[in-house]
Amino acid sequence: MARVMVIFGGRSGEHEVSLASARAVMEALESGGRHEVLPVGITREGRWLLSGDPMRALTDGNAGPGGELSSAVGSSLPGTLGPADVVFPVMHGPYGEDGKMQGLLEMAGIPYVGSGVLGSAVGMDKVTMKKVFAHHGLPQVRWRGLVRRDWEQDREAVIRAVESEPGYPCFVKPSNLGSSVGINRADDEEGLAAALDEAFRYDRRVIVEQFVDAREVEVSVLGNDHPEVSLPGEVVLSGGAFYDYEAKYGEGGMRLVVPAEIPEEAAGEIERIAREAFTAVDAAGMSRIDFFLERSTGKLFLNEINTIPGFTATSVYAKLWEASGLPYPDLLDRLISLALERHAENG
Ligand code: ATP
Ligand code: MG
Ligand code: MG
Ligand code: MG
Repeated sequence: MARVMVIFGGRSGEHEVSLASARAVMEALESGGRHEVLPVGITREGRWLLSGDPMRALTDGNAGPGGELSSAVGSSLPGTLGPADVVFPVMHGPYGEDGKMQGLLEMAGIPYVGSGVLGSAVGMDKVTMKKVFAHHGLPQVRWRGLVRRDWEQDREAVIRAVESEPGYPCFVKPSNLGSSVGINRADDEEGLAAALDEAFRYDRRVIVEQFVDAREVEVSVLGNDHPEVSLPGEVVLSGGAFYDYEAKYGEGGMRLVVPAEIPEEAAGEIERIAREAFTAVDAAGMSRIDFFLERSTGKLFLNEINTIPGFTATSVYAKLWEASGLPYPDLLDRLISLALERHAENG
């Protein structure tokens, strides 16, 4: 039995996803009186809701003024954190998954679930993540990183650069985001310009990747220095061009096949690369790692790591563990233990 502070919502394009994840986490933690939950909500504007029923306030959209973090830190936050044994930041994207929240919790000296500052930040920024993976010789598609200032100053030059490398078709993504928010495929100059405009609305850093026609296979990782890897699962889309927001969260948008029906050799490679990717960015606790298996060649590419993956009981992360013999409530217990272990080691 632990007192677990669950923090949710936040200033990211994945605010809604965070609420769904946090509802499931809180329900499972509290079921059968396993743990005590202290809920903390953050509004889209970044205000902290430390009392009352923050989930209801965010869901109903009547959060009221809430507190700025600066005043929360000065007054109620230490008091609110005080009684918690461990914090579970159930937040996706910037200001939750990218190391900022983790830094705050480090400063407060309180154990928390998941990766630390470094692993969170490196895992979130796709450009930096890819550089680190490349250093470890992990297989990836060709890509190019861009910054907003260059796009604003000389669109023509940016377009020419992308056309030379990686070329069309390509995928354009905000460097720091998730749930496919702000991601588009581009097949020509017009599509590329529109995709870059959109991606730069979300982030000053953007990544453009070579398109690969591939099956999508994901694994869940759990642990600290010697993590375990789940069975692989294949994401099969019901329609649509790619695994976009609608396919991820819409009713019947996708089907997860576990274990993925892939060659044994690919499964072995996925397990090895997932473990290496997790360690390469210094992740901790959990991560979901996404792969592409090219249809025409069977070649494997590491796509990305997600240090705080979608976390409902039916999310890919939990389903893969369930199929691997670890039910959702036990998974939460393991994550809490890992958080406490890591805190003790760093302390
Ligand atoms: P998550 O919700 O997993 O955090 P994300 O927003 O970080 O997602 P990615 O996983 O990088 O985004 O990409 C989202 C989806 O877009 C992929 O699952 C895939 O369907 C498609 N996609 C991304 N990159 C490529 C690519 N280079 N070639 C083909 N399809 C791609
Ligand atoms: Mg991601
Ligand atoms: Mg993500
Ligand atoms: Mg992904």
